[in-house]
Amino acid sequence: DLLVVGSANADLVIDVERRPAAGETVLGGDLAVHPGGKGANQAVAAARLGAATALLARVGDDGHGRLLIDSLRTAGVDTAGVLVGGAPTGVALITVDPSGDNSIVVSPGANGRLTPEDVRAADGLLRTSRVVSTQLEIPLETVVEVVRSLPEGGRFVLNPSPPRPLPGEVLAACDPLIVNEHEAKVILGDSAAGDTPEDWARRLLAEGPRSVVVTLGAEGALVAETRTETERRTDESGAGVGGGVGAVGGGVDVEVTRVASVRVDAVDTTGAGDAFTAALAWRLGTGATLAEAAGYAARVGAAAVTRRGAQESFPTGAEVEAL
Ligand code: ADP
Repeated sequence: DLLVVGSANADLVIDVERRPAAGETVLGGDLAVHPGGKGANQAVAAARLGAATALLARVGDDGHGRLLIDSLRTAGVDTAGVLVGGAPTGVALITVDPSGDNSIVVSPGANGRLTPEDVRAADGLLRTSRVVSTQLEIPLETVVEVVRSLPEGGRFVLNPSPPRPLPGEVLAACDPLIVNEHEAKVILGDSAAGDTPEDWARRLLAEGPRSVVVTLGAEGALVAETRTETERRTDESGAGVGGGVGAVGGGVDVEVTRVASVRVDAVDTTGAGDAFTAALAWRLGTGATLAEAAGYAARVGAAAVTRRGAQESFPTGAEVEAL
């Protein structure tokens, strides 16, 4: 089963004619409150697809926290691991102007109080999970503790968002590390300028993860994996791009596979990456190969961009099949 460890936020959204400058007050439309945060988004996305999903997170003892727990339960997420208290629920204050540009202030609140101790106390949840999926809207030391607490044979999936340099211990556990273009560039540093997405995938893999997925919006995604020389010789499929395989030393090859996107009318890409990651993590737990899981996830991500919002836009399993 899938365990998501991550953030839960209330997204407070106001449409404005113009975003305010320093010292300025502007009047906006009615406040809309949406359940969000990458952890909660992933958990809801997976549960809607039909995955048995639990969330380890922390919210405040307040109305926003109750709203989040409610929306998680409605989607079918196991909320026994959603801890309450310690700080107000995380909030994102979002103003959106008519051209769709936004300004966002995030108060991590209770997300910042999800501690390594909380991970150790959730030992039971971790032990029963095949796949554990995390992001970086919670403290990095908490993510490190997740890596150290993985059950035997448990698989670790990380979307490093918001991106920051990662300790080798965390990178080495990722199977896969899932990044979009922006996240790839931050993790690789300035030297990534001018490289192609395939270069990013190869270079990220060289930093230590067991596998890497680079998401490319409407262009789909790239999957990069190492494999042994023997596997390479016995594989007739030749599905690699840009020359297929390239040696990185030690008899280990890198194979980069392109995952096709689905052509859809994109309305709002909010949450697409969360839906993609959740779908991929769940499929891996059912025994799919990384390329198969990414192919399914691309259809989930495509479905998610056809509707407004984050959690409201996530498809059911039946909707993905119909795509
Ligand atoms: P993020 O939301 O993290 O920036 P992407 O924009 O790369 O991530 O989107 C994640 C995935 O969602 C993509 O790999 C793709 O499969 C799907 N997706 C996103 N935008 C579109 C689109 N316009 N058309 C089809 N699929 C899309």
